Amino acid sequence: MRIAFSPIYRYALPKGHRFPMDKYELLPEQLLYEGTITPKAFFGPESLPEAAILRTHTPEYWEKLSTNTLSRKEARAIGFPMRPELIARGRVIAQGTLDCARYAMADGVALNIAGGTHHAFADRGEGFCVFNDIAIAANELLHRGEIHQALVVDLDVHQGNGTAKIFEDDPRVFTLSFHGAKNYPGRKMNSDLDHGFPDKTGDELYLSTLYAILPDLLDRLRPDIVFYLSGVDILETDKLGRLSCSLAGCRERDRFVFQSCYDRNLPVAVSMGGGYSERLATIVEAHANTYRMASSIYE
Ligand SMILES: [Zn+2]
Repeated sequence: MRIAFSPIYRYALPKGHRFPMDKYELLPEQLLYEGTITPKAFFGPESLPEAAILRTHTPEYWEKLSTNTLSRKEARAIGFPMRPELIARGRVIAQGTLDCARYAMADGVALNIAGGTHHAFADRGEGFCVFNDIAIAANELLHRGEIHQALVVDLDVHQGNGTAKIFEDDPRVFTLSFHGAKNYPGRKMNSDLDHGFPDKTGDELYLSTLYAILPDLLDRLRPDIVFYLSGVDILETDKLGRLSCSLAGCRERDRFVFQSCYDRNLPVAVSMGGGYSERLATIVEAHANTYRMASSIYE
């Protein structure tokens, strides 16, 4: 089981704000400490080549990113200070998702300790997303003929609006999004299959919907690769999510996705996605469960 780890970039935050990258450091430490993985699982992705960026993002958007000339409004939509180091980190993360897809096709599963930046559109970023890592990976693999059909299983609590829009007219990438109907983004795009849940949904409804939809979809589509966006902002403790799922429910969700793909011999590349619980330990625990489940099913 291979795991992509991209270098962390630390930047100054307004007083009282918790550093948003803490979980990306703590998660691998926890997984190593408890023995879920060994150090040899990790690899450091390179920087994504420009040609691969341009298969998903527009030349105008990439020009603004690479010359640091986004307008204030465009930068504000993304939501963090636009620094060259953050663009550089985004490129490495996107390459990590592409690498994970290739490792998954060889080994069954591979996971990125980052990624899932599904609010990035072809021509703009928003919601803390600059590059759409899953779209970039899917487009690159399609371009090179390494896959013919991909499935995006986006279970982050926020709709994968950027991914939905990018693949709106492309049948080679099927987009499934489970999300809070009242969660960001206010204006949803059309995925191939959207399921918007009411506030305080809870485990039972959430999981029964997953059980009803995913196996049929996998059987019908038989994708060459499944991109799984495993955001843990479905938790009841999440500050941004509204779905009220438990830690055990979130773990069961991960188990079911992996087991369903494993049983059908379908490779899974995981991008981490969001998690905004009050306690950092809860966030790390919920994300760690994804890696534990992958490890227990595939090894
Ligand atoms: Zn999210």
